[in-house]
Amino acid sequence: MRRDPLDYLARELDALAQQGLYRHLRILDGEQSHRSTFDHRPVVNLSSNNYLGLTTHPTLREAALEATRRLGVGSGSVRTIAGTMDIHMELERRLAAFKQTEAVVVFQSGFAANAGTVAAVLTKDDVVVSDELNHASIIDGSRLSRATIKVFPHKDVDGARKILKQLPASQRRLLITDGVFSMDGDLGAVPDLCAVAEEFGCIMMVDDAHASGVFGRNGRGTIDHFGVHGRVDIQVGTLSKAIGALGGYVAGSRSLIEFLYHRARPFLFSTSHPPAVAAACIAAIDVLEQEPQIIDRLWENTRFFKSGLQALGFNTGLSDSPITPVIVGEGALAMKLSDRLFEDGVFAQGIAYPTVARDKARVRTIVTATHTRDELQFAIDVFEKVGRELGILKESGLGARG
Ligand code: PMP
Repeated sequence: MRRDPLDYLARELDALAQQGLYRHLRILDGEQSHRSTFDHRPVVNLSSNNYLGLTTHPTLREAALEATRRLGVGSGSVRTIAGTMDIHMELERRLAAFKQTEAVVVFQSGFAANAGTVAAVLTKDDVVVSDELNHASIIDGSRLSRATIKVFPHKDVDGARKILKQLPASQRRLLITDGVFSMDGDLGAVPDLCAVAEEFGCIMMVDDAHASGVFGRNGRGTIDHFGVHGRVDIQVGTLSKAIGALGGYVAGSRSLIEFLYHRARPFLFSTSHPPAVAAACIAAIDVLEQEPQIIDRLWENTRFFKSGLQALGFNTGLSDSPITPVIVGEGALAMKLSDRLFEDGVFAQGIAYPTVARDKARVRTIVTATHTRDELQFAIDVFEKVGRELGILKESGLGARG
């Protein structure tokens, strides 16, 4: 019999299992919501990126249904052949107006937007100067571009400056940061990096996946939050998290967007969104503009939950956002914490190497606008119980209510 040439994969999976790092996919039964049923267990859901609860918002749902009835379920082509529908153009016009940029191009995901854009705008003669905790899609796009990759320590603006000082001004350089870092929830050093980009004449790019719908006026993102409009050449946002549907986009100058039409490979070689997705995203912009109180609720819930975890004595890192990590160190302990929380009715995913550093494994929590106070208090109480049981919290902790 032929030997399975992929048998090394099973061996690698066995090794993961032995380290306590093998994960099965939790299966969601029903809607993605603040209370959901995963693996047949009803839980308070602290694992989604559904910051504003828009995955099930009636306005988005109705818009998607209407678009499907009117336009069908698929676009049938890539954008550059026959797959640019009027509704795609409408979404891009609405996003450009919302982001206050000349133009926007939508991609099938935030991942495609980042990777496709970095790979398109740079060549092997250029340099990417990138925060060490930037998202995988930025790293992959940088590799695809074949540019030289220079990494600066997390949020170390002087570190970035030091790298740039050694590069000739004649070389094209792209300075890039996440607006909000996905595993720690901290804000990128956006204004300071804008100043560095101006000082050295670099292209400035920000990946605002976790800031879209969360930071800035009506959820316009970190560029709006920090008041740096016009200073970031390439803004990436996602439609998959707070916006509740799927997709990513690049906002910038008309010539940047037209160039991406010609050179961004996910745009050229992968089919565009179904009309329902574009329609839901347009409806989401309406909701952001007309119901900004949803974003206020997200932030009220964020403050309540974060301060509850901190009062117990958990290490929540340096988060500035609704993402609050509970950092425990060892990968196996993070997975154990996540599993025990789940058994007691709280879903907060464990995250270990290679997603985060080996000694910084954690459980990551994300609150949403739609969680109730009772649900969040319940989650804090379960964190306290399980945290003590696993020795992560010492007996003398302050207690959830101080
Ligand atoms: N950038 C960051 C910082 C992210 O966290 C993510 C999603 N994990 C993405 C980009 C990709 O977005 P999408 O899920 O829309 O592909």
